[in-house]
Order: sequence, then structure tokens, then C-alpha cells
Amino acid sequence: DMEVAIKVVVVGNGAVGKSSMIQRFCKGIFTKDYKKTIGVDFLERQIIVNGEEVRLMLWDTAGQEEFDAITKAYYRGAQACVLVFSTTDRESYQAIDNWREKVEAEVGNIPTVLVQNKIDLLEETVIKNEEAEALAKRLKLRFYRASVKEDLNVNEVFKYLAEKYLQR
Ligand code: GDP
Ligand code: MG
Repeated sequence: DMEVAIKVVVVGNGAVGKSSMIQRFCKGIFTKDYKKTIGVDFLERQIIVNGEEVRLMLWDTAGQEEFDAITKAYYRGAQACVLVFSTTDRESYQAIDNWREKVEAEVGNIPTVLVQNKIDLLEETVIKNEEAEALAKRLKLRFYRASVKEDLNVNEVFKYLAEKYLQR
């Protein structure tokens, strides 16, 4: 039978942990100074969802998001999206609406999930739980609190997206 392959874009402000998340999910590792491997557009991992093999291709950026310079090629053909903000960065939380609109403008309404990363940095929290939940509710998105560092909820995020994609 046909193999299912999904292009997933991981978007959000710089330094929220997007590259780390992709690396954690696909390679099972966390490094403090992750540098994008030159020439690699995406990493992939296969998972089983409802007895079906699903190949997730997670597209990374080389930091262009910092200059608002992500090209159309990055979004082209995206079938699912992870919106990421950081527990320690209020601006990244405020930017989520903007990221959502960008993705929607490029590829329409695709399965999407909202992730608050770095929940291990409890003492540095600048986002109240109610605020994060209100954002998810307003955008009508499933919401996960995650720590890529501690490997909390990372697999769950991608499993949910794959399920959501298969249900279309
Ligand atoms: P990107 O710019 O969104 O791709 O972010 P990076 O993946 O490059 O991560 C930015 C910094 O945050 C790096 O120093 C990571 O090691 C760190 N980081 C990523 N995820 C976590 C996390 O869950 N907890 C903590 N404490 N640091 C993290
Ligand atoms: Mg990055």
C-alpha cells in the first residue's frame, strides 16, 4: 500500500527551540549549540499511527526567521505545522498569531499544533498558563507544553499531527 509522507514545517521566532525539537525527534539527541547541517533542508522519522506507517519530514530553517526572510520554498507543499513559542520569551508568544497567518497565507488551513517549549526553565517563566491556554483556545489548536531538553511531550506533538493529518 501507499506510504504516507508528510511535510511538516516548524515555525516560530528564533531561539524558541525549533531546530532542537527537530533534532530531538529525528535523532534522539539534545545539544546546547545546535548548528544546522549545511545543505540539509529536513530531517525525517517514520512512526506508526493507527497501524499505519507515516514518514514525517521536518523542515528546518537556517535562522531566516530572525530576519523575517523565510522563503516560499520553505512552506511549499507543507501538510502540517508546529507553531512554537518559548516559556522564557514573551515576544515569541506574541508572535504566534503572525506565524499562523503567514503559514495560512502560503498553504491554507493545514493540521497545526501549538507548543510552548522550554518548560524546564520554570524560574524564568514569563507566560502564565492561562495566557497560553487562552491563545490555544482562540486559535482552536491543540496545545502542548514541552521540553525538548528533558524530552517531555516531543513525540506526542508529532504523533498528534500525524493522527490529525490521517483524519482529514
Ligand atoms: P531555534 O532558533 O528556534 O531553531 O532554536 P534552537 O533549537 O537553536 O534553540 C535555541 C536555544 O535554546 C539552544 O541553546 C537550545 O539548546 C535551547 N533549547 C531548546 N530547547 C530547549 C528546552 O526545552 N529547554 C532549554 N532549557 N533549552 C532549550
Ligand atoms: Mg533553528
